Amino acid sequence: MSGYHHLFVPGPSNVPAAVQQAIHCPMEDHRNPTIPDLISPLVNDLKKIVLTEKGKMVFFPSSGTGCWEAALQSTLNVGDTVLGASFGQFSMLWLDMCKRLQFNTITMEEEWGTGANPESYHKELSNDKDHKIKAVLVCQNETATGVRSDVLAIRKILDDLNHPALLMVDGVSSVASYEFRMDDWGVDCIVSGSQKGLMLPAGIGILGVSPKALDAMKNSNYPTCYFDVADMIEKLDGGYLPYTPPVNLLRGMRVALDMLLEEGLENVWKRHHRLAEGTRQAIINGWGMKLCAKSPNWYSDTVSAILVPEGSDAVPVISTAFHTYNLALGAGLSKVAGKVFRIGHLGDLNELMLCSAISGAEMAMMSNGIKVELGSGVAAASKYWLDNPSGA
Ligand SMILES: *Cc1c(COP(=O)(O)O)cnc(C)c1O
Repeated sequence: MSGYHHLFVPGPSNVPAAVQQAIHCPMEDHRNPTIPDLISPLVNDLKKIVLTEKGKMVFFPSSGTGCWEAALQSTLNVGDTVLGASFGQFSMLWLDMCKRLQFNTITMEEEWGTGANPESYHKELSNDKDHKIKAVLVCQNETATGVRSDVLAIRKILDDLNHPALLMVDGVSSVASYEFRMDDWGVDCIVSGSQKGLMLPAGIGILGVSPKALDAMKNSNYPTCYFDVADMIEKLDGGYLPYTPPVNLLRGMRVALDMLLEEGLENVWKRHHRLAEGTRQAIINGWGMKLCAKSPNWYSDTVSAILVPEGSDAVPVISTAFHTYNLALGAGLSKVAGKVFRIGHLGDLNELMLCSAISGAEMAMMSNGIKVELGSGVAAASKYWLDNPSGA
């Protein structure tokens, strides 16, 4: 197919040309004496992305899921109790992992389209008088439903109750895109990955651990090997990894982090918010459609999950977009399969790129009997962006 491929799944996101070029380099000895010059500044700059000075950053040659596992196994003990809310594919899968790793898992089911409910956390934690719960899990951005949760609200509950559990956050589709503050929010483990806000190919799992999590690691009796965070920290401190790192990806990460830090983290957050708002204007005011996220407090700045009208199917819309317009929209996962399609708006992105996704989605909907006024989405988004200029 001629022309660009329009990639609008909520990860992998678009990889900037400069990052692609940095990755496209000859193989090298991963133990050569210059490797620490690459690794050590990366570890340091990742701290600026999650806003920690006190914590330690590690990365594994894995996807984000690997770091879910690394966080749990490295800090907890066999059979420990963990608490988390399930309200979409990713929050659900992390808790499913906890069960499979044989942690005693308390799952709070929330309606899909809502997020981590502070009241549910409060109830479970205040009932836990003898502090059996050792880790509290929060998925900051539920990518399946386009829902953002308030991590700080959960921190406050732990503080108010004087509850010592570790606070673990899945930030795979929020870190480097919208506000996340590891130190200020007292987060003990933050999990992320390379292929979303960090504008890289998949292949690097990222994990930040607080001093409290580091202490917990010293007492953990859970068997670990590949994902042993303490081993990784020891090697990274010397500028190497315990095994073969994806050096090319790390050269790409150097450029991607430079781009993010040059733009400024807060500006990156603002850009994502503004692009997300424009996209929501297209969906709600332009098309007259609804988001899966039930109310504005849940709206995600990195992905919008759009509900197709009752009786319509989102699957052929996604298929037409792909085959006819070279546009990749995100599919609905598990409970919302066929009910939503998703537009990812994270990473290396601007207004006009988003217009292509909005326009392509309009045409794909029309081809499949979902009636929207052609151009209405682009018009509503453009109006918002005109009225709210960047840098204002
Ligand atoms: C993408 C995603 C994951 C899974 O990450 P992988 O890199 O695919 O392993 C986990 N959580 C959230 C919120 C995600 O968006």
